[in-house]
Order: sequence, then structure tokens, then C-alpha cells
Amino acid sequence: MRIAKVVVDVPASQTNRVFDYNIPSKFAGSVHKGMRVIVPFGPRKIMGFVLDLTDESDFDRLKDISDLMDVTPVLTSELLDLGKWLSEQTLSFYISVFQAMLPQVLKAKYKKELHKLTSEELPYQLEEIFAFRDYISYDEFIERDGHHGNLQKAISDGVLEINYLVNSRETVKKESMITVNRESYLVEEELANLSKQAVKQRQLLSHFIKYPEPISQKTLLEQLKTTRASLKPLLEQGILKETKQEVYRNPYREDKYPETKALPLTNQQSEAIEPILSSIKQKVHQVFLLHGVTGSGKTEVYLQSIQEVINKGKEAIVLVPEIALTPQMVERFKGRFGSNVAVLHSALSAGEKFDEWRKIQRKQVKVVVGARSAIFAPFENVGIIIIDEEHETSYKQEEHPRYHARDVAIYRGEKHDCPVILGSATPTLESFARAQKGIYKLLTLSKRMNDAKMPKVNIVDMRDELHKGNRSMFSTKLKEEIELRLKKQEQIVLFLNRRGYSTFVMCRDCGHVIECPHCDIALTYHRKNERLKCHYCAHEKQMPSHCPDCESDTIRYFGTGTQKVEEALSEMIPEARVIRMDVDTTRRKGSHEKLLTQFGRHEADILLGTQMIAKGLDFGKVTLVGVLAADSLLHLPDFRASEKTFQLLTQVSGRAGRHSLPGEVVVQTYTPEHYSVQLASEYNFEQFFKQEMNMRKTFQYPPYYFLTLITVSHPNQVRVVEVTKTIVQLLNKHLSEQARILGPTPSPLTRVKDRYRYQCMVKYKNEPNQRKIIKKILSFYDAEIQKKDLLIQVDLQPYQLM
Ligand code: ADP
Ligand code: ZN
Ligand code: ZN
Repeated sequence: MRIAKVVVDVPASQTNRVFDYNIPSKFAGSVHKGMRVIVPFGPRKIMGFVLDLTDESDFDRLKDISDLMDVTPVLTSELLDLGKWLSEQTLSFYISVFQAMLPQVLKAKYKKELHKLTSEELPYQLEEIFAFRDYISYDEFIERDGHHGNLQKAISDGVLEINYLVNSRETVKKESMITVNRESYLVEEELANLSKQAVKQRQLLSHFIKYPEPISQKTLLEQLKTTRASLKPLLEQGILKETKQEVYRNPYREDKYPETKALPLTNQQSEAIEPILSSIKQKVHQVFLLHGVTGSGKTEVYLQSIQEVINKGKEAIVLVPEIALTPQMVERFKGRFGSNVAVLHSALSAGEKFDEWRKIQRKQVKVVVGARSAIFAPFENVGIIIIDEEHETSYKQEEHPRYHARDVAIYRGEKHDCPVILGSATPTLESFARAQKGIYKLLTLSKRMNDAKMPKVNIVDMRDELHKGNRSMFSTKLKEEIELRLKKQEQIVLFLNRRGYSTFVMCRDCGHVIECPHCDIALTYHRKNERLKCHYCAHEKQMPSHCPDCESDTIRYFGTGTQKVEEALSEMIPEARVIRMDVDTTRRKGSHEKLLTQFGRHEADILLGTQMIAKGLDFGKVTLVGVLAADSLLHLPDFRASEKTFQLLTQVSGRAGRHSLPGEVVVQTYTPEHYSVQLASEYNFEQFFKQEMNMRKTFQYPPYYFLTLITVSHPNQVRVVEVTKTIVQLLNKHLSEQARILGPTPSPLTRVKDRYRYQCMVKYKNEPNQRKIIKKILSFYDAEIQKKDLLIQVDLQPYQLM
């Protein structure tokens, strides 16, 4: 094959296709699908992905590929196909999708070095270039006309390796190894010759007489309680030898995790796992929705399914939400599968992530546990894909490419003829509806382990508190319960939805919230002109001075931050030790874990925080969970507000009484009669599903209708409105009669970083031409978009409607 079809790193509508490049003879046979190459493009040289190889091109006079960035492909051919499909699905550029599949390190600019892995001479003329050096830069190899085929062969033979230097820091970590460099009788002689004073050196030699195998310098010095200084003379005399060995930066040390064995399954678990195992055995793709209450043993079902996959010689991908990827979660997988597990977590450094990714690429592990992007793990023999807490919105990427990991999972599951398991205590309406229709197979775990009770949920009506003269953010009930726990030396988790941000207006007296009559969402308060607007349909009205329901003048917009709550808390109960966990206190790497460890050691009584404390935590001494203001979630300007409230209340309740001590939950709200609050307190998912589906049908939302959200932003407000209007007109003209196009309307976050944001929304049942039309619109604005003034974001499966 002499021609490579390349997608180049220029994310623009005009360049979103393959370009043909000639493969020069020096790279003949060395270019493969899925490798990155450097190609000339206009006056520049840029990176590109090789999608295909061919012998024919419609163009003559092709330019040559300038260089190869990889020696082996970084994307498998399955991932290349997936990338093409995904870019169509999400209307993203090919290049952005391929980049999203790779670890950070491979996206950065870096230099390459070739490192010798042998003390022998290198084969195939390579030694001429190396000239007895241990490593040379890749640039030198090219300058001296090194042959790529030889390089690839040496790498596959394991005598050479390629290292990437990011910001001049090594991506591959090396460790000093100390080996004995003499026959053992000679070492004994040396020992006899050493003076009695050289205590440490005598110890070192004795060590190697007993244990001649190589040992890491760090471990050696630690074991013998000595320093590099005592090692040095022995190295200089050549009795000992130092070598460098590649080590994986391993943030999760295996020895930390005690091994666990498969537990005998309960009847419910056995019933649930049966169809999964048979899908694995018969190699048929099937999506399962594992609906199991918190603590019902879903994870054990995952673990035993994975074991079956490993027994078959295949691989498993497990996704857990970013914030649930706690050491506790990792422990359960490492405990069962040990060093067969790679972990991909955004809290790892770029180098650490790269190491974990390479373990997958080199087939050194069978299981990957990770957040969203782990769905692109370059396994080639996938036997199961599991998405835990499938309702989590973090599975949807909120930047280009806007993909949902669930869709990718199902795509890969089909390709590999393997089961996909979506697990949750509170599945999304979309998934549960599909399970009811039989598209997914529903598996149910309705009981907690050992028949443990779900904690009792008390709903406190904050309107009553106000009427009783209590103006603080803590109800009498919550205050009493906190004090009781402090007395008993138990722990408390207090939950506040997001920090200090709110958009809606509510009457403190009667709980009335001003909503859009057409869209079933709260109107958004605009401080500037004191107006209330619906950001779906542009309905608007004046901010009232009195409640339209009860005439009270206590109507105002709603919101408190965690910091304020912390202050109020320490005023109310000065002796309580509080850990606050929000975006501000967890910005630094590792601080999240540190705070949790402190709380786990009972160095604080109360953990106060936002969303990030809602899931995955498992602390035995937590017997009280308080939700300070359920309303702040319930009235988000989002048609999923009720669903999110139900999910969150269920999740936080699951944090209490996980072990022997019984738990209790206090939910404070101004709208205690709301069905999502009521039904969450009864743990009644089925009823909630029924009621919420009715609302969705009435107001034409998913899963009955599909949505497309188009957000336009520009520094100039007039231009934003103009463009959004034109888009609405074009959509109206080209979409079918059935499609409903709402807008243009200001986004709830109307101005971000000096850019104005407007949006429009399409509600539709079936619009096969929609993608084509939107693509045309995007390419129409391409020039203005390239200048970076205009930004048009298209979300074909919007979850964040802000
Ligand atoms: P979920 O993932 O549904 O929230 P977990 O998997 O965390 O539930 O299970 C809750 C607890 O029950 C865990 O401590 C787990 O070790 C234990 N468990 C799960 N399955 C079994 C079983 N078959 N026998 C005994 N204990 C189990
Ligand atoms: Zn009122
Ligand atoms: Zn509206």
C-alpha cells in the first residue's frame, strides 16, 4: 500500500474528511491503520490519524508523509470505526473524537527518545546509529536515515523501546535497581576484606550473598536502614551494579488490597446473574438494566460476571462515576482481581493515566475500572461492559465531542457480541422505559443484604418553621437530631445542592414557585431588569412583589452557599467539628481523598458538602443524613429536575446506616407535597416512574420526544440574537411539520466570560434529516466560527440544560 488516508488535526467543517498522502519508501511497510503521523498541510506540518491504506487515489501529485509519531497503532480498527460512527452521531469532527479516545499524554506535544533495553549490540544496523549509547533522540535517528522497519522490528523483539517526553519530563518512570556484579564466592571474599567499621557495607554485601536477585535501590536502602552514601563505594568498585528499570507509576498498590473471594449469592442475586452469564457463554449481545436498591449487592453481581469473562480469556470494562471512583470502590475490584485491574481516574496525573492505559494496550490487564473515557479502553476482546450508577450525568461529556458513554458501550457491546449491564438504584427514565418495552432486559434486586432496612426519611416542612418563628436554615428537628448524634459520638452528613447558585423565585410562606405555564419548569430570575423568563420557550413576565398564591411578601429568589451554612452551623453548635467539602475545598489534587479519610477516622462529626458527597461513601458511623434544601434541586430550570431530586434523595439516604447502626434521614423542603420528595422518602421508584412519565408525555419531553439543544454564543449580543434567529428560521424551514422549535431565548447562564449565550431547542419524534441540516448550518457559519468569535454548540442528547 502506497497511500495513507489521513484525518488531520484541523478541527473545522472544511477539513473534516480524509486526505490522501503518499507513503515514502523509507516508511514502506511501517505505516498502519490507527497510527499517528506528521503530514504537511498548507505551510505547516501537523498531526493526523491514519484511517486507511490504499493503492489508489483520486488525486495525483500527493504529498509525502513527513514522519511517523507511533511505532504501533494507538487506535484499534474497532476504535477507528467507532470514532467514525460517533462523529456522525454527535456531529463532532473526526479529529476531536479520535483525540478523545486517547490519554492526555498522547495529545500533548512531546519529543521521543529511543532507549536500548539490552546490553548486547543492537541488530539490523541500529548499533551504527546508537554508537554504544543507551539512548538517542528520535530526531537523530531520522536525521541519520534510520530505517523504520528495523526500528519496529527491534521494538517488537523487545531490545528497544520508545519513550515520550512531555514538557521535558519523562512519561515513563524509571527505578534504580541494584544487582550483584560478581560471582558469590568473590562477594564473600570482598566481605572478608572489609573493615569491621564498615558496618553498612558489610550488611549490604551480606544481603546480596543471601539474596542475589536484583532489588530496587529504594527497597534495599529502606530494608537496611541506610543511605545511598554507603552504597556508592560498592558501585564504584564494581561489586554491585546499578541499572534502570521501567516501573509503572502505581497509585494503587496491590499489597494494600486484601484478596477477596466470590461470596455465595443470595437467591435474588443468582436470579439476576443467570441471564448475564448465559449471554457471556452464548456470546450474544444484550443490554441488561440491573435495578437494585442501594446495598442490594449489585457490585457482587458485577464481580462474578467479570470472573466468568476472565475465565473465558476475555476482558471487562467497568465504568463508575468520577466521584464514586473512591479508594473504597477501587479496593473491591483490586481485591478480587489484583494486578489484573487498571484504574483510569481523572485524579491521576497524566503520567499515571498513561501507564494505566498502556497496561490495557499491552494486554497486561483484563479489567479496567474508570470514569467516562475508560469506555474507549483499547481492549480487543471485550466480554462485558458494565456501567454502574447508569443515571449519573457525568457519563455524558459536556464538551466536544458530546458523547454519552452508554451509547458507546452499547455500540461496543454489539461489535463484541457481549452483554452490557446498566446498574442503578434509580435508573434514568429513558433506560427504565426501554426495559419496560423489552429493549433492555430488566433484572431486579429489591432487597438489601441481610434484609437491612432502608433508613427512615423524615420530611420537614420549612414553611411551618417560618410560621413558628424559626428563620434559620436548620429546622428544630434537624438541630435536635444533630445534637443527639453528637452526644452518641456518631457522625452526620449534611447535604446542600451546589454552592450559592440559584435562579428561581419562591415564596417562603407557602412554597409557591413561579413556573412557565407551557414548559413545567421554574422561570429564571433576571436581576438586571427584575424579570422572570422561561429559557425553553421565551415566555416572560415581571417579577412580582407579592406571592400570586398567598399574597405574602416573602417571595424572593432562593440560594445559600456551603460556606454560609458552615458559619450558621458553628454558631448553632460550636462544639461540632465540621469538614466542608465543595469545589473550593477540593480544588487541590488529593484533597478530596484527604478530607474523606479524616472523616473516616472520625476526626470530624459533620461532613458538609455538595453533590460530591452524595454517592459512593460508606462510613459505618454515619447515622444521620440531612438534606438542607431539597427545593434548590427541585426547581432547577431543567425538565429533569424532579428526576434528579428523586435520584439524589435516594442516593443520600443510602449513605446513612450502611452497617450495624440504624440510619435516619431529614429532608428539609418548602414543597413537602411534591411527588418526587414524597416517593423518594418511601423508596417507591415504580410509582415515581409512572408519575414522571405522565409529566414527560404531557409536556413533550424525553423519553417520549427527542431533544436537540443549540446554544449560540458571541461577545456581541446583537449578533448572538441574529444568528440564533436565523438558525430557528432555517430549522423551521427544513425540518418536518411535526418538529417543534422553541426559541430563540437567552440561556439560563446568559453571559459567561463576556460572551452572550442564546439558545433554541428542537422537540421531535423522527427527523432523519436533522443532522444533515445542522451540518449545513454549521458549515455556513464556519468562517466566523474559525475566527473564534462565534460559537455554536449542538447537543443531540442534552443533559445539562443551562
Ligand atoms: P450495591 O452495589 O447494590 O450498593 P453492594 O455490592 O455494595 O451493594 O453490597 C452491599 C454489601 O453487601 C457489601 O458490603 C457487600 O460486600 C455485601 N454483599 C453483597 N453480596 C453478598 C452476598 N452474596 N453475601 C454476603 N454479603 C454480600
Ligand atoms: Zn405564597
Ligand atoms: Zn416555557
